Amino acid sequence: MILLDVLQQVRALPKAELHLHLEGAIAPETARELAARHGVRVTSEEVRARYQYSDFQGFLEAFKWVTSFLNAPEDYRLIAERLCVELRAQNVVYAEITQSTGVSLWRKQDPLANFAAVQDVAARERRRGLHIQWIFDATRQFGAGPAMEVARIAAQVKAAGVVAFGMGGDELSLPAAEFREVYDYAAEQGLRRLAHAGEVGGPEQIRDAIEILGAERIGHGIAAMHDPALQGLLAERKIPLEVCPTSNLCTGALAKQLGRAEAEMQAHPLAALYRRKIPVVLSTDDPAMFHTTITEEYQAAATQMGLSACELCDLAEMSFAYAFLPVGEKSELLGKFRAAKVSLGLV
Ligand SMILES: [Zn+2]
Repeated sequence: MILLDVLQQVRALPKAELHLHLEGAIAPETARELAARHGVRVTSEEVRARYQYSDFQGFLEAFKWVTSFLNAPEDYRLIAERLCVELRAQNVVYAEITQSTGVSLWRKQDPLANFAAVQDVAARERRRGLHIQWIFDATRQFGAGPAMEVARIAAQVKAAGVVAFGMGGDELSLPAAEFREVYDYAAEQGLRRLAHAGEVGGPEQIRDAIEILGAERIGHGIAAMHDPALQGLLAERKIPLEVCPTSNLCTGALAKQLGRAEAEMQAHPLAALYRRKIPVVLSTDDPAMFHTTITEEYQAAATQMGLSACELCDLAEMSFAYAFLPVGEKSELLGKFRAAKVSLGLV
């Protein structure tokens, strides 16, 4: 089977995406529209220039600029609607979408009003065949107090589709131990636990996220490439890494892990980690900010990292297998995925 066929088939496969930030999915044109809503006139060229960066700092500046136009629940509704259109175009049928609740609180917004707006969008999408659950994310450098506030709010709306508590931001800012109580609280409330770790930090950040915070999946986690014992632990406990290759290139995270000024996709550890039996769920992170789609991530895995058609299918299946879904719903989605795989001749 030639590669082009495989890629077309991957596009046609029903897919799940588990590491995806709502605020990182704002396309340049939507950013312009949001700016106009708030009385700021910017040209398409200006927005395009803002969306170009070569390192983590540049990305953060752009992210801050874009999200400064998110003020009201209606803004969140708009970006959720646009993201869902994009997900359906990629044949994504299930997504766990992260909201930066820590940032909303820091901006003195009402996270529950924002959530009501996006959940309304999710309810409509469910009828169109796209199932969404939400992750509320705290910002690490803001500290344990604000993180606890995020966990409390997440617990309040758990029944409405918030499935997990996570933590992003600067992973090197504060030690995991400071957040132990917050994660314990989240678990007591029945929320699943996630953490960004080992993106720019070392393998010890991943270990701490697992051992101290009880993280059930690791955001990025590419630093595991340096630590065979940690790889063994991830494989044995079946703790997936949410791997986002284009993001790792755009932010300079991969170059940093490799101790180089620059890194190319061929140097990404995805294939090596996957072949060491570590569960991997392929994701986009911030698709609009990194000019990528989930289909393009699979494409890169095939063409630049050498994964076979069979391995791509296995990867795609893992995104369903490691979703935070009740057993029945997960089996149903896995059944549909496997049936599509057979009908596309991908077995
Ligand atoms: Zn992320």
